[in-house]
Amino acid sequence: MSAQRRDEGLVILGAGLAGLSAAYHAGPGARIFEAEARAGGACVTDREGPYSFDRAGHLLHLRTREVQRLIQKLLPGRFQVLARDARVHLMDTEVRYPFQANTFGLLPEVKGECVRRYLEAAVSEKKQPRNFREWTQAAFGKSISRFFFEPYNHKLWTISPSKLSLEWMKSYVPQPDCSRVIRGAFADIPEGGGYNAKFWYPQTGGIGILGQALSASISRLRLNARAVSVAPRRRTVDILGLGRIAWQRLISTLPLPVLVAILEQPPRRILEAAKQLHANSVIVVNLGVIRSRPNKTHWLYFPEAEYSFYRVGFPSNYGRMAPRGRSVLSAEVAVKAGTGWEGRKKLAGRVRRDLIKAGLLEKKDIIEKEYLQYLPYAYVIYDKNHSAARKLILDYLTSQGITSIGRWGGWEYSAMEDAILAGKQAVIRK
Ligand SMILES: Cc1cc2nc3c(=O)[nH]c(=O)nc-3n(C[C@H](O)[C@H](O)[C@H](O)COP(=O)(O)OP(=O)(O)OC[C@H]3O[C@@H](n4cnc5c(N)ncnc54)[C@H](O)[C@@H]3O)c2cc1C
Repeated sequence: MSAQRRDEGLVILGAGLAGLSAAYHAGPGARIFEAEARAGGACVTDREGPYSFDRAGHLLHLRTREVQRLIQKLLPGRFQVLARDARVHLMDTEVRYPFQANTFGLLPEVKGECVRRYLEAAVSEKKQPRNFREWTQAAFGKSISRFFFEPYNHKLWTISPSKLSLEWMKSYVPQPDCSRVIRGAFADIPEGGGYNAKFWYPQTGGIGILGQALSASISRLRLNARAVSVAPRRRTVDILGLGRIAWQRLISTLPLPVLVAILEQPPRRILEAAKQLHANSVIVVNLGVIRSRPNKTHWLYFPEAEYSFYRVGFPSNYGRMAPRGRSVLSAEVAVKAGTGWEGRKKLAGRVRRDLIKAGLLEKKDIIEKEYLQYLPYAYVIYDKNHSAARKLILDYLTSQGITSIGRWGGWEYSAMEDAILAGKQAVIRK
C-alpha cells in the first residue's frame, strides 16, 4: 500500500478510518473535510486526567496481510497481538466466549439442557430459518439460544432477534462444530475460535493512535469543516465556513441518512428509502478506578436483562490506559437511535450499581473519573428493510458520482479493517 497517486478533483467527506484511508491511497491531490476538530471518527481515544478512553472497545481483528503491513508501516512496533480472553457473565458465573462452545462452567442441569437441546436441533429436520432467532435455535438449540443469543442480541440491537435478518451474522457468530460444543460442555478449553480470537492493540496511546498516524500522513485535510449541502448535478459540496467546493468525484463516509439529508433535491424514492434505515445508539459509561484489575479478562458479555449493559470492557488489561494501581472499566449500553443521553446521569448510577452486583466494583472503590460517551450511530440494524433500502440509495449515489463507504456510509456491520480496505478500494476502483 502506498500513497503515490495524485487524485485531483477527488473530494472526501469525513476523516474516520474510511475517509483517511481513501485520502492516503489517493495521494496528495485529494481533499478531505472533517466536521470535528480532530480526525479519527469512531477510532479516537479521549484523554481525561490519567485515564484514556476509547469510544467503546476498539480492537483490531485483522484478516488481511495488507492492513497488517499498513499498520506496521505507520506505527512500527506500537502494536501487540493478544489472544482474546472474553467471557459471558450468566447466572452469577463467567463462562468463556463463545458461549455455544463453552457451557462448561454452568450448573450441571443448565449445561445438560444446553447440550440436549443442541443435539435435538442437530438431528432435527432443517427448515429454512426466517430470522436470526430461528437461526440460532436451529444452529445451537433452543436453550443456548434462550440463555445467550436471544437476550444478548435483544439488548445489543434494541429489537427482537426475530426481527433481525441473517445477512450480518456470518462473519460475527462463531459456529463451532458438534464435537467442540460437546467437549466445551465437559472441559474448560481456552481456545474458542471466532473472528475475534486474536486482536491487535497498541501498547500505549489507545486505538486513537491509528487514526492519528493515518491523518499525519495525508496533506489536504481540513478539520472543523462540516459538509452541509451536496449538489450532485452541479458537482459541488458546501462546507461550513469554507464555502462551495467543486468535485469530479465524491467519496462520502457520512452516515447514509445524514448524506441523504444534505443532498440537494434527491428523488422522493431515495428520501423514502432513507426512512427505512435504522441504527441503534450506544452510551459508554467509562470509569477510572483506583484499583488494579477488577476482572482478569479483556471484556465480559452480559446477556441478562437485569444488567443495563451488554458488554463491559477492561481496556487497562490490554493497553496502558491507566497508571499502575488504577483501571478503566467501560460499560456499553445500547439504546434506541438518538435516545438516552438526557437520562445519562441516572443511567450512570444504574451502571455503577450493576457493576457492584456483577462483582466488578465494590462499594468502597474510589471512582476517580466518570466519563460518558455518546455514539449516535453505533450498530446498523439488519431488519427486513435494510438490504433493499441500502442498495437503492447506494446505487443512486453511484449514478451521481458519489461513492458512499465505511461502517455508516456503507450502512453495514463492519470493522476498522473493513473501513481501511473500503477507503483503498474506493480510490483504486474508478
Ligand atoms: C460500539 C462500537 C464498537 C466497535 N468495536 C470495534 C472493534 O472492536 N473493532 C473494530 O475493528 N471495529 C469496531 N467498531 C467499528 C469501527 O468503529 C468502524 O468500523 C470504523 O471506525 C468506521 O470508520 P468510518 O470511517 O467508516 O466512520 P467514522 O469513524 O464514523 O468516520 C466518519 C467521519 O465523518 C465525519 N462526519 C460526519 N458528518 C460529517 C459532515 N457533515 N461533514 C464532514 N464530516 C462529517 C465524522 O465526524 C467522522 O469523523 C465499533 C463500532 C462501535 C460503534
